[in-house]
Amino acid sequence: MASLYRHIVIMGPPGSGKGTQSAVLTEKIGLYNISTGDLLRQVSAEDTPLGRDVKGLIDKGNFVPDETILKVMQEQLKKIPEEKGYILDGFPRTLPQAKALDEMMASQMPGRGLDLVLFLQVPDAYVIERIIGRSKCAHCGALYHERYKQPKVFGICDVCGHKEFERREDDTYETVLLRLQKYRKLTEPVIPYYEDKGLLVCIDGVGPIDVVAEKIRQVVGY
Ligand code: AMP
Repeated sequence: MASLYRHIVIMGPPGSGKGTQSAVLTEKIGLYNISTGDLLRQVSAEDTPLGRDVKGLIDKGNFVPDETILKVMQEQLKKIPEEKGYILDGFPRTLPQAKALDEMMASQMPGRGLDLVLFLQVPDAYVIERIIGRSKCAHCGALYHERYKQPKVFGICDVCGHKEFERREDDTYETVLLRLQKYRKLTEPVIPYYEDKGLLVCIDGVGPIDVVAEKIRQVVGY
């Protein structure tokens, strides 16, 4: 069945499963996936003034300025093939970003504006536990969790067979608390913005990956 929605934003607190569920949707319905967190981590790995600035902000749990991320997104939106749907993970994260996105879409990609905003609801206690235990394959980026998603064979990535895993530098207890504060103050106001536009669907994000994925499947309709 063709999906009902193909122009999607996925929102939620840090550790709510946005990256994991975007990957599922991307695979199932062939969307173009843009993760601003992944893009910024690539920038922060570069030894340039911008890379060092971005790294300093991310590692401490602060947001990158709206102006910077909007420049990045303007370029990224141009890369979405016309025939493809898309999913935006981690953007918009502030109200000015949400408004700017509407303007960029109206001018850059008319007729392909958002048709669904998925909001993953997960209480703080869960997100802290999820973030503290997560890691990814250093080679292919497949995501794991020490409690909820271990590799089938200990120490070996299920997807590519490599043996090195890494953790994000901002996935420490102190930084998670700060990221949650930023989320409350700057990102939560975006929720009523999309609710007023009739785009918002709330999903209970607590539970195993496949259970949450099934709830999303029922909404997206694939
Ligand atoms: P994420 O992988 O989505 O958790 O993002 C990791 C970090 O990248 C965040 O904690 C922010 O520091 C930064 N970041 C990602 N997306 C944005 C955005 N839209 N606006 C500002 N900062 C962002």
